[in-house]
Amino acid sequence: MNQPGVQKSTQTIFDRLPGGRAVDVVTLRNDAGVEVRIMTHGAAVLSLRTPDRTGALGDIVLGFDTVEPYTARSPYLGAIVGRYGNRIAKGKFAIDGQTYTLATNDGANHLHGGAIGFDKRLWSSEPFSSADDVGVTLRYTSVDGEEGYPGTLEASVTYGLNARNELTIDYHATTDKPTVVNLTNHCYFDLTAGRSGDVLGTELTINADRYTPVDAGLIPIGELASVAGTPFDFRAPTAIGARIDQHHPQLVAGKGYDHNWVLNRQGDGVSLAARAWDPVSGRTLEVQTTEPGLQFYSGNFLDGTLTGKAGRVYGRRSGFCLETQHFPDSPNHPVFPSTVLRPGQEYRSRTVFLFGAQ
Ligand code: BGC
Repeated sequence: MNQPGVQKSTQTIFDRLPGGRAVDVVTLRNDAGVEVRIMTHGAAVLSLRTPDRTGALGDIVLGFDTVEPYTARSPYLGAIVGRYGNRIAKGKFAIDGQTYTLATNDGANHLHGGAIGFDKRLWSSEPFSSADDVGVTLRYTSVDGEEGYPGTLEASVTYGLNARNELTIDYHATTDKPTVVNLTNHCYFDLTAGRSGDVLGTELTINADRYTPVDAGLIPIGELASVAGTPFDFRAPTAIGARIDQHHPQLVAGKGYDHNWVLNRQGDGVSLAARAWDPVSGRTLEVQTTEPGLQFYSGNFLDGTLTGKAGRVYGRRSGFCLETQHFPDSPNHPVFPSTVLRPGQEYRSRTVFLFGAQ
């Protein structure tokens, strides 16, 4: 039954994997015209249409029209990344004195779950509609030893869209052996919906006084550094491009922004992480999360070699990611908030993307 303000979610086949397995797509819509399409490959957001200040709908995420590029060369467009989003130095960590070795797929380091992370797995899907929202729950079982991780992890991700233009992502996981978990969504946002070709004019605010500086391999050096007086200070709205090419050693290391901010949190629930605004269309995006960190990645490695939806070529900095998460390489930094999950515990994380126009 349709709920006031939201419309029933629909599920159809998006495409087929080589070998014939169907990849489904679930479409969520509300009465304001917001429409989100999520596929079962990588539990990825395929498209996300939101109104600008005139009410015109535009697709504000990067993606592809078929599944094939997602299986091979996608830089995690729209996907859920795991079992550990972000980097683990040298692909090594220890729990209770036992050392584990993960796949290394980013130079010497482990990135986004390894060679075949959660972004390249086929998830099951269960659409639903509740009193407040329409959504889909996607599930994936990551077996003991997959990409080197200990323990079988039962993971689920629930996307829900409500009439207030909020897309909520709820993450849940349990394990049968001690392991590490850090799940996030890897949407590349472009609030200009392709108008501009890059995101440098988008104004960004990040609710953080500190960030975690990195080494040349983008592994945190362990310091929680103040953003004050640096190009990492986004406490007041600032265009992404305003300082991105300054000769700051951290911007050189990241080839732009590719860093984790230490969020100023309030309370135990979701708390404001970031806001983005495209001054031309008026589109806004607000991010709230239960997570302690936010990786802001300014799409520095997009280089014009990928052609996405409707033939659009994705050039450098044509999308930005706001990845809510625990800090990179936490398993090797005992002072960072812990990412260890033990049998009997539940991993829970929530992120809300709120869309608007002003
Ligand atoms: C990382 C980047 C990486 C990108 C992959 C981001 O989350 O921080 O360094 O290149 O994912 O597309």
